[in-house]
Amino acid sequence: MHTNEIRLFSPATIANISCGFDVLGVALDSVGDEMVIRKVSEQGVRITKLVGQDLPMETDKNVAGVAGLALLAASDYQGGFEIEIYKKIKAGSGIGSSAASSAGAVWGMNELLGKPFSQLELVKFAMEGERLASGVAHADNVAPALFGGFTLVRSYDPLDIIPINSPNELWATVIHPQIEVKTSDSRKILKTKISLEDGIKQWGNVGGLIAGLFMNDYALIGRSLEDHIVEPIRSMLIPEFDTVKAESLNAGALGCGISGSGPSIFAFSKGESTARKVAQVMKERYEEIAVDNDVHVSKINSTGIKLLHN
Ligand code: ADP
Repeated sequence: MHTNEIRLFSPATIANISCGFDVLGVALDSVGDEMVIRKVSEQGVRITKLVGQDLPMETDKNVAGVAGLALLAASDYQGGFEIEIYKKIKAGSGIGSSAASSAGAVWGMNELLGKPFSQLELVKFAMEGERLASGVAHADNVAPALFGGFTLVRSYDPLDIIPINSPNELWATVIHPQIEVKTSDSRKILKTKISLEDGIKQWGNVGGLIAGLFMNDYALIGRSLEDHIVEPIRSMLIPEFDTVKAESLNAGALGCGISGSGPSIFAFSKGESTARKVAQVMKERYEEIAVDNDVHVSKINSTGIKLLHN
């Protein structure tokens, strides 16, 4: 392999997993972007190719460039990098499009430099890309993209990321109904205060979900996938959310919720065949009301970003 250049796969991720709003995320196995990262003598970071989506190529306007510059600033490497991005994930769909680019860029650079940085440091660099995309340096998409599987952001200050076990037969179904939900709108409608009663339900479910993932207890995972705080409000911005959720659960899904800040909806299932059945009922619902959509069915990705050899 040419050591000055690598090709990688950077996964799509589901964040805001029901009760785990802002803290729990998970990486997908068969949905994601490809990138080529190249070490060059010229200093700085340049996006030399961007295929599949209409996004800015200027280093300071593309999350891959901004995350890459954060890594370079912390490194004693004197050269620079070129980045090619092959986008498969639609920006703004709610499955970590910007996170895949930010995390992929810094992971690839770290590989080419001989891995001077830890995973946690890479998360911090990638968070600078997220700051550009949404104004907030959140970690709940970049952490699972880098670590793989489920991750818990236990704390931001200091940053503390906990990798969580992913049961073997756990599959995700994600549907992206192509309607526009402005991130600013989905943020504006959130309440900033919650009741003690809602808090108690929510942390009971977070504990249950984490325990279910570690114990490979699918029924516990299913009954813990509840959100009493954000979903009842945000779901109003997603047409047919309640029906899609009810029909997904009917088709055998363990649980169903909003992916990221929407409009994508995710469901988890035990086994591929249930996940595909769920995909079908989700799709039928949006076809009925003539809303264009993309559906993804994927196993949980337990390793995160990976090298592609070709
Ligand atoms: P998602 O909702 O899928 O997580 P985000 O909302 O996080 O996607 O990111 C989309 C925003 O980030 C858009 O405003 C887009 O223009 C900007 N952006 C900049 N660079 C990239 C990139 N390389 N990939 C995706 N989005 C990017």
